[in-house]
Amino acid sequence: MLIAEKNGKRDLRSMLPEEIGEYLASIGEKNFRAGQIFKWVSAGAHSFDEMTNLSIRLRERLNEDFFLDMPTIAKKQVSAADGTVKYLWRLADGNAVESVLMKYKYGNSVCVSSQVGCRMGCVFCASTGCGLVRNLLPSEILAQVLSTELDSGEKISHIVMMGIGEPFDNFDNVMRFLSLVNQPDGLNIGMRHISLSTCGLIDMIDKMASFNLQLTLSVSLHAPDDETRNEIMPANRRCGVDALMSACSRYYEKTGRRISFEYALISGINDSDEQARLLAKRVKPLAAHVNIIPLNNIEGSPLKPGNARAFAKKLTQLGVNATVRRRLGSDIDAACGQLRRKTAERE
Ligand code: SAH
Repeated sequence: MLIAEKNGKRDLRSMLPEEIGEYLASIGEKNFRAGQIFKWVSAGAHSFDEMTNLSIRLRERLNEDFFLDMPTIAKKQVSAADGTVKYLWRLADGNAVESVLMKYKYGNSVCVSSQVGCRMGCVFCASTGCGLVRNLLPSEILAQVLSTELDSGEKISHIVMMGIGEPFDNFDNVMRFLSLVNQPDGLNIGMRHISLSTCGLIDMIDKMASFNLQLTLSVSLHAPDDETRNEIMPANRRCGVDALMSACSRYYEKTGRRISFEYALISGINDSDEQARLLAKRVKPLAAHVNIIPLNNIEGSPLKPGNARAFAKKLTQLGVNATVRRRLGSDIDAACGQLRRKTAERE
């Protein structure tokens, strides 16, 4: 795959160790330096001067051939309730994206964005209001994890791709990001510690299945019937819920990994008994888990949260493995897209 270029310089932090090795061979440098350079970029180096185990000549050469952007903190909010930290990052071109650091008993998890904005148009989501601005580079997704580690001093062991953007609408860059964090000389985060959430782009679910990764795929279902799903998630109009469930079933068969479905409960829209029954019928053959998300209120939106506990109980009674998602950081707009939106409104 092509590595992005800017002013004739390539994006070093998006390169895999073997690609750095190829570059080094082309300038007559030894291959073992690739590991050294990869370790520096994966530790969040801001400049080539930091790479003190490389000769000054090589550092200068790298500086001529590559860029090494890191985001700066545009805004940071720390939850008084649970220590969740929300970052609004300023990217090199002035755009902004968000990440959230969540602390769990099993380790620290960071929720990263995959695009600046989103073009999927889900009516309840704060990220999609102004459409898609651009895809993030693999390095820009990685840098959110690295910058979170550097600022918080916390080691990150888990990653969720549930921030701003639709990861499957930026498929190649997201796949490369996953390889980067998985590298033994990099963050070395195992696929079983990574979750990726999609609004359900069917072709991409099949494409992802062919890679047979052990990550957890979450599908934002939010409605079991086309009438409702077309209304709240316009991306559904292309294929429909039947086709989506078939793709999920193929994914489960191919990878052996159970899919997790997300269901943001909206009062009077997707919380009827009939919808609970249809949802149960759809997910049971997949042995899937359903995560009921209490809807985060978006200012100015008429949509109101449904009773998540009651709905989860209904699903459990229907034999579905359903839980209500714990809300972390609700005092700091930790739901995706909210901080970027608020900041943009003020600018
Ligand atoms: N585009 C991807 C990932 C980003 S959104 C996807 O659609 O899955 C992460 C999750 O938050 C998705 O399940 C999304 O539907 C949900 N979400 C968005 N806005 C929400 C809101 N206001 N309340 C609750 N969940 C919301």
